[in-house]
Amino acid sequence: MPNTGIIFDLKKYAVHDGPGIRTTVFFKGCPLNCWWCHNPESQKPEPEPRQKFNQKSNLKLLQQKENLIGKKVTAREVMEEVEKDIVFYDESCGGVTFSGGEPLLQENFLLALLKECRDKEIHTTIDTCGFAPYSVFEKIDPFVDLYLYDIKICDDELHKKYTGVSNNLIHGNLVRLSKLNKNINIRIPLIPGVVDTEDNITNLIRFISTLKNIKQIDLLPYNKIGEGKYEKINRKNLLGAIDFQSNLEIERIANKFKTLGIKVTRI
Ligand code: SF4
Repeated sequence: MPNTGIIFDLKKYAVHDGPGIRTTVFFKGCPLNCWWCHNPESQKPEPEPRQKFNQKSNLKLLQQKENLIGKKVTAREVMEEVEKDIVFYDESCGGVTFSGGEPLLQENFLLALLKECRDKEIHTTIDTCGFAPYSVFEKIDPFVDLYLYDIKICDDELHKKYTGVSNNLIHGNLVRLSKLNKNINIRIPLIPGVVDTEDNITNLIRFISTLKNIKQIDLLPYNKIGEGKYEKINRKNLLGAIDFQSNLEIERIANKFKTLGIKVTRI
């Protein structure tokens, strides 16, 4: 059913998921399995028991009799929630962000939502890991105002080890997308010892320098939000206990990316 999909959260008044004040819709299901994932409950495409995650929502949209996280909803139901805050989007140049999980995994549901946003003149942002056939990007692209495009590790063997998939499709899609005249912000999770190594930062800078139309680079320093969740879902936290980077270290990395002449922010 193109007009129905599974989401696991909907966050209002979000200010880190694109410009202005936004509503962020979290799609369930992700083709990656990143060792540092903050939302491991987002990875499986189907709903799963809620008590494991101690995650509650006061939104009527997400309430259900079964004690599950992840709910099948219609595009219209999501839009009814989204449309309540149009006044905030208008005043702040904000809009809606489709995130996850991976929104491109439910392409028809995503397309239905994007079209409704376009009809209502609501700014749309897609937060994607980029792992989808390029044909999916072609399908949704006419209705997307901004991409938040995550890239992580340049060495493909390391990428496979830490995310479960090759980076070929992800990087290839970004190269193709960057040739269109679209707004793209690159997002990099600065996982200590994995993404923030000297070699990887150098290779990321080299890769980004070949791209066009990159408006901004968002650095996401590691935080421990997801650590406790792994135990609850009986999964090993493969990353283990790692330390945060210091502010000085993050500043040093940010300065390296600034040599590209692109705005760099820290989320
Ligand atoms: S791409 Fe994002 S949602 Fe998917 S596993 Fe990685 S961190 Fe989690």
